[in-house]
Amino acid sequence: MSQILQAVRGMNDILSDEAEAWDAFEEIVRDWLRAYGYRPIRMPLVEPTPLFKRAIGEVTDIVEKEMYSFVDALNGDELTLRPEGTASCVRAVIQHKLLHAGPQRLYYHGPMYRHERPQKGRYRQFHQIGVEALGHAGPDIDAELILMGARLWDDLALHDLRLELNSLGSAAERAAHRGALVDYLQARHEQLDDDGRRRLHSNPLRILDTKNPELQALVEAAPKLIDYLGEESLAHFDAVQRVLKDAGIAFSINPRLVRGLDYYNRTVFEWVTDSLGAQGTVCAGGRYDGLVEQLGGKPAPAAGFAIGVERVLALWQAGGGGGERVVPDAYLVHVGDAAGRLAFRVAEALRGAGLDVLMHCGGGSFKSQMKKADASGAEIALLIGEDEAAAGEVSLKPLRGGEQRRVAVDRLVEAMMDEILQVDGDDGGV
Ligand code: ATP
Ligand code: MG
Repeated sequence: MSQILQAVRGMNDILSDEAEAWDAFEEIVRDWLRAYGYRPIRMPLVEPTPLFKRAIGEVTDIVEKEMYSFVDALNGDELTLRPEGTASCVRAVIQHKLLHAGPQRLYYHGPMYRHERPQKGRYRQFHQIGVEALGHAGPDIDAELILMGARLWDDLALHDLRLELNSLGSAAERAAHRGALVDYLQARHEQLDDDGRRRLHSNPLRILDTKNPELQALVEAAPKLIDYLGEESLAHFDAVQRVLKDAGIAFSINPRLVRGLDYYNRTVFEWVTDSLGAQGTVCAGGRYDGLVEQLGGKPAPAAGFAIGVERVLALWQAGGGGGERVVPDAYLVHVGDAAGRLAFRVAEALRGAGLDVLMHCGGGSFKSQMKKADASGAEIALLIGEDEAAAGEVSLKPLRGGEQRRVAVDRLVEAMMDEILQVDGDDGGV
């Protein structure tokens, strides 16, 4: 026998039980996005490599060591599997001149690729929901993006997420801070790790973002960017905080929150949990006013965030979310030729009326089909034998208690609706 092939390490199959929870989650997410006026956009999974180098920054974890980049063997193009969505989204907005029609509120959902060490909550193919607001300069949109997050956690009944906030100011303010930061780190050069030494001059701010536990005390005591913010940046930051306070959303300011991507300025934020171990950030974002221009567009402000779907789903499922099995309304059992033909008609008529029907395929005895009906989780079995077929009727058998009865085929939809209403009534549902 030949060897069984496995999926790529860190890239997971999502099997049906799990995928149904994803579906349920995605439905909640879609409603939530609509409530804020966000419209969908879908970008390719593969983009030119220079897009990410320019957008995310050369001296970042993603670009330095996490990208799946390759050369297109057919034409020599340098391509990359997208490690995140903001760069692609902004590229699409520029390419299709979407801002000519005014500010845009956009979202996307899909797989991202990063060559990281796989562990719980960290995969090589993972999924993000990206939310991007383009063309809005004011702090109101930053605040709204954060309120949105709070509402989604509420919709999902997640109660242990905390909000961390920071401001990265403007490029000039960061430059002023950078001088002090480099001096500070330079004086402690021997305590830095390899990444830190390398980034000391190319991207010192990134050192604050280190995941190395041995550097935590060092970065904790480093000069804080917030002390270098000018009047405008401070006013913007204050305005964001005011809305959050008005809305009763608790937050803490984390001066070390600099985000792993170069394109951010002013407001940055993360939603964090303690219940997922080291992979505690479930949602991260902020303002990135320079990116549109950096990617060749007419300057335009922008802000957004990305949700790590696997991490949010893990929390949601731990709290019992998404646990409901999706079951058909009816399982259709039929024995005999005439019954089989009627069964097709009946199944299609029910589906046409909006019901979910699992039709037995592959024959077998009445008894063996009934076992499958039970296992399917359906509330009702519909039985067609020779008798029923000859009479143009179907036997309707409630599987969780209730009388079996015969119903004429043209009255079946009505009878099923009655039955379902009754079942839902028993459940206390609608
Ligand atoms: P981290 O610090 O955990 O590496 P990041 O700063 O690289 O995160 P972003 O690029 O901001 O992450 O992505 C937004 C969100 O996407 C993260 O907060 C996280 O929830 C999720 N995410 C990022 N990388 C992965 C991954 N490899 N596997 C699963 N989820 C991920
Ligand atoms: Mg990362």
